[in-house]
Amino acid sequence: MKRKLRMGMVGGGKDAFIGAVHRIAAFMDGKIELVCGAFSIDPQISRESGEQLFVSPDRIYENYEEMIAKEAALPEGERMDFVTIVTPNFLHFGPAKLALENGFDVVVEKPMTVSLEEAQELKSIVENTGRTLCLTHTYSGYPMVKQAKAMVREGHFGKIRKIVVEYPQGWLSRLSEREGNAGAAWRADPKRSGKSLVMGDIGTHAAHLAEYVSGLKITELCADLTTFVEGRLLDDDGSVLLRFEDGAKGVLMASQISAGEENAVRIRIYGEKGGLEWANEDPNNLIIKMLDQPRQLYRTGNAYAAPYTLSSFATHNTRIPAGHPEGLLESFANIYRNFALTVSAKREGLTPSAESLDFPNVQDGVRGMAFIETVVQNNEGNEKWTKFVV
Ligand code: NAD
Repeated sequence: MKRKLRMGMVGGGKDAFIGAVHRIAAFMDGKIELVCGAFSIDPQISRESGEQLFVSPDRIYENYEEMIAKEAALPEGERMDFVTIVTPNFLHFGPAKLALENGFDVVVEKPMTVSLEEAQELKSIVENTGRTLCLTHTYSGYPMVKQAKAMVREGHFGKIRKIVVEYPQGWLSRLSEREGNAGAAWRADPKRSGKSLVMGDIGTHAAHLAEYVSGLKITELCADLTTFVEGRLLDDDGSVLLRFEDGAKGVLMASQISAGEENAVRIRIYGEKGGLEWANEDPNNLIIKMLDQPRQLYRTGNAYAAPYTLSSFATHNTRIPAGHPEGLLESFANIYRNFALTVSAKREGLTPSAESLDFPNVQDGVRGMAFIETVVQNNEGNEKWTKFVV
């Protein structure tokens, strides 16, 4: 397209955390501009936030219903193209459904909804409307995660046997939800967060990363959820044994009471011939461990010679030469850029490239909700293994 895509936001006001990260990511490649928003549950904060972002006053809205109705009534050359939804979990489904039904594409935070039923409904709306829905599973945007996926896909490690994925963090080691932390308050409230705190907030990131890099789907699981912090209404720690298609087995750990940890996401995958390791705290490194060979370190942005050439998916998602660190903001921006390339291509009647289509979508959102519900069901029931049904 010969112009920027026009973005509207639901949530992400000056009272919010992740909305500002979305804007940095969306603007990084110059393909997207912010034109409107219902930035907060509080209309006054929405107004002040929109003014700070230099949004035209007549396009700062009191709520998302007003925003979608008024934007849909604008001439095609002015109205927003897509909506970014960065509200608490229970407020993803409503705006996403309304936006899709009114002809807008959607970027929505994870978990996609608060129930599998809602997720499946969104999937059928996406299919019926032909619109694009992007789900921001942040860690899948890193160049070295793309490289890891490509090497698994190309058979570098042989048949995959073991997948170990971890997401420990420590920020909920205390009862922060009763100490004035607004982000903790809605996350720990079953009505606003969903059936599981730890699995909704970070476990779905880990499950998505495991499936994304390995290319294998979870088929069964056995889960153990715990609420360590007294007075908390939802779980804050979980361990899950996983069975994948094609006989692979795995372990997923997601924990918000791992005191002292920041966002220590790590994945290790082992096949018959060797394995890989990638960690969020060192994201420009991909460690390759082959049987009977010295360890290898692949680094973002290098023009390695064959047979070590980085995949087209890794290079497509790299911005600067080797040695200059790329991090979470760039990974987030990769998701936005690929979404923007896909939406633009579809609107021009073109077929998006495989690299452009490489962002989490509505099907990943459905699988994320199935993961949460299966974990909770297994944890509460007596069966050893629960089938993962989507
Ligand atoms: P937050 O509590 O900091 O911000 C929520 C925002 O939504 C606030 O601006 C609030 O006023 C607004 N809001 C609430 N109800 C609204 C409504 N009806 N209309 C308009 N705005 C409304 O939450 P957060 O930490 O920014 O999390 C938001 C979402 O992002 C959650 O779903 C969370 O799981 C997800 N998240 C994802 C990542 C990631 O790595 N991808 C990181 C953090 C948060």
